[in-house]
Amino acid sequence: MTHAKIGSVALGSEGGTALDPEHTVVVATGNAHKLTEIEAILSKVMPEMRFVALGDLGDFPEPEETGANFRDNALIKALAALDETPFPAAIADDSGLCVDALEGAPGIYSARYAGEHGNDAKNNAKLLDELKEVPKEERTARFHSSVALVYRDGGVLIGEGDCEGSIGFEPRGENGFGYDPLFWPIDSPGMTMAELTPAQKNAISHRFHALEALSEQIKG
Ligand code: IMP
Repeated sequence: MTHAKIGSVALGSEGGTALDPEHTVVVATGNAHKLTEIEAILSKVMPEMRFVALGDLGDFPEPEETGANFRDNALIKALAALDETPFPAAIADDSGLCVDALEGAPGIYSARYAGEHGNDAKNNAKLLDELKEVPKEERTARFHSSVALVYRDGGVLIGEGDCEGSIGFEPRGENGFGYDPLFWPIDSPGMTMAELTPAQKNAISHRFHALEALSEQIKG
């Protein structure tokens, strides 16, 4: 029996790797770590669903993130993924770093703070430069994550989460990504986010808290 296909993935409930479209949630990410993190938490409250990354289904154009906040950008990404696939639900997250002394910057512009999308080294250098006159006690900051779950029938659920901390004076640690080497989380004293193992980070991260908040809503 042949199945319809999205990218290289066959749709249909038969066969080992085929997707059952009725029981699939598409996750608007190409990042395997995010998929694992989302799946680990949400499969507890959506046990009948399987989670698949949009990036594993083919090359889809990324929607422009034109929202005024994390929540709106998460919604834009989730709705685009719903449009591009036949599944009953789609999920997306949008996250970033908000620094109090910079009135919440880089915020939704975290990925391209220094002008070049995803250039972590330049973004971190710019952040340190912007904060060079700011003393330790005023370098408070938080990572924020908004996670949007949208259903084809129009239902929308949003989970929001923060990870509180402060910005250091030099990078430390090799793990993680983005601003992790400069971020000292309150929940893990004496270490930057980049010195935590992935499991330690996942237990305190903004995305973890946002997914927990979303889980509560799914449970109703
Ligand atoms: P996105 O939501 O994955 O697109 O993240 C946007 C940007 O926010 C990233 O490029 C990073 O600069 C920053 N960011 C988001 N989450 C984290 C994190 O867990 N650690 C460090 N930086 C992060």
